[in-house]
Amino acid sequence: MPRVFISSVTPPAGPATPALWFLFQGTRLLVTKDAERAEIPCVATPADLGLAVERWHYLGHLEDGPEMTHCFCGEIAEGVAPRPGLSFENLRALFPLLDETIFWLAGRAVQIVDWDRTHQYCGRCGSPTTNQIQERAKRCPHCELTNYPRLAPAIIVRVQRLSEDGPQVLLARARRFPTSLFSVLAGFVEPGETLEECVRREIYEEVGLRVDNIRYFGSQPWPFPHSLMIAFEADYAGGEIAVDPVELAEAHWFAADALPNIPPPPSIANQLITSWLASVAPAP
Ligand SMILES: [Zn+2]
Repeated sequence: MPRVFISSVTPPAGPATPALWFLFQGTRLLVTKDAERAEIPCVATPADLGLAVERWHYLGHLEDGPEMTHCFCGEIAEGVAPRPGLSFENLRALFPLLDETIFWLAGRAVQIVDWDRTHQYCGRCGSPTTNQIQERAKRCPHCELTNYPRLAPAIIVRVQRLSEDGPQVLLARARRFPTSLFSVLAGFVEPGETLEECVRREIYEEVGLRVDNIRYFGSQPWPFPHSLMIAFEADYAGGEIAVDPVELAEAHWFAADALPNIPPPPSIANQLITSWLASVAPAP
């Protein structure tokens, strides 16, 4: 049975029992690890690890059949060294080592810790804020401004076409990418814009193409630092590739048997491209 995570802001009543503690120093996560795997400490309190937590939040609990494990996140002051066997590691680099459910939970945790750190004071009047009990929010007791964890929605879209040479996918190399890495196009949603309008605008701005038949593909939280990627497929509907030189180094149509290097899992960009591959070259 797969594990299920139930989100909550209300910590369990009663004595502390061993729980998963997602402890961060900046954006680096405390783990035990070797060459093959990494694990999150499971302890009653961070004091059991010899660490003092600056601030903490309850995340919810993991259900694994009849077993239930509470999950907390918190921040450890910069400069504090963990005891031998524990280390603070770059979260993104931990993907191959962590259980996947735990990796995405750590992605939730890092965003809550970052929001907690950066919203200690009211953005309007500067008073110290207080955590709300019923929801993940911080409220200013002076001017009543409420702040929620920040999320930046972004679209990511795979554009495809059927050319005289067969099916092709549009991939681009961003200026900030390594020279060999190509991906689908993506961009942040602007205020007042629908997701479909954003897809059309981004494709037109970045490569000068028109698209049609926009279909929802899926979504993925991307906690680097706080995006929500909303993925679409779309069909080419006209125009010649003309790249925006500020954003992109190059963009081309690729056939399935001539793909360049693409982003690795777990990114939804990888899922978009591999699902296209499967659709144009079904397994025998
Ligand atoms: Zn205020």
